Amino acid sequence: MEKKSDFRCVECSFPIKSLYIQYSPGNIRLMKCGNCKKVADEYIECEVMIILIDLILHKPKAYRHLFYNMFTRDILDFECLMWKLLLGFLMLDSYRIWVLNVNDSESISLMSFAAVLRFSGKVLIDVVLGNFLFMSVVLIGSAKFLMNTSVGVLECKDTVLTMLVSSYFKIFLIAMMVWEFPSSMIIMIDMFVLSSNTVALKVIANSATIRCFGVCFAAHAVKFFVSEWLRKLHLS
Ligand SMILES: [Zn+2]
Repeated sequence: MEKKSDFRCVECSFPIKSLYIQYSPGNIRLMKCGNCKKVADEYIECEVMIILIDLILHKPKAYRHLFYNMFTRDILDFECLMWKLLLGFLMLDSYRIWVLNVNDSESISLMSFAAVLRFSGKVLIDVVLGNFLFMSVVLIGSAKFLMNTSVGVLECKDTVLTMLVSSYFKIFLIAMMVWEFPSSMIIMIDMFVLSSNTVALKVIANSATIRCFGVCFAAHAVKFFVSEWLRKLHLS
């Protein structure tokens, strides 16, 4: 993600100019990595379902394929993609906070209009403040502890985009809108998002798993405590 046109070897993250040579339509030869001598990206020939399964299995090479090789900036409008992902992410997170808070409140259908407005405002503050602090902790943590640089030098947009994409498991919250699930299901989704964020950060920062986990855990913890603090404030 750092270099706009360079691809990466999915095994060792070494930059590579091209991933394959095309002789004729459907006849390609995959390139080997100059560093580890393995096929640079075998996912080129794989079905999307295989990539999806490997992403769910948290294989770093699947994340490298997704972040560096699957799309190029010439094809995708990254700025537009980021805003769309951010909107989707915030909407799913609003639903998550709404489910977690609605248990404390009386049923929405019994609330007065003013109470519904107050409740919606609280969810909005929780989402905006919680995610702002979440991203701030990720950016500062990545710069200080993973890349030894300053936040100004860090490719902030790439890091934010990485966190948004690797939170793909939040999409299962849509299933919760359709079918009835216990709200404890949200904790399982959060755990999965935390581990997925860790692998994604490890891939882009090229740092030790434990450090990446530390940064992601701190960011999720800050978000959790902000949410709890706002909930107590609302109840008192
Ligand atoms: Zn390699």
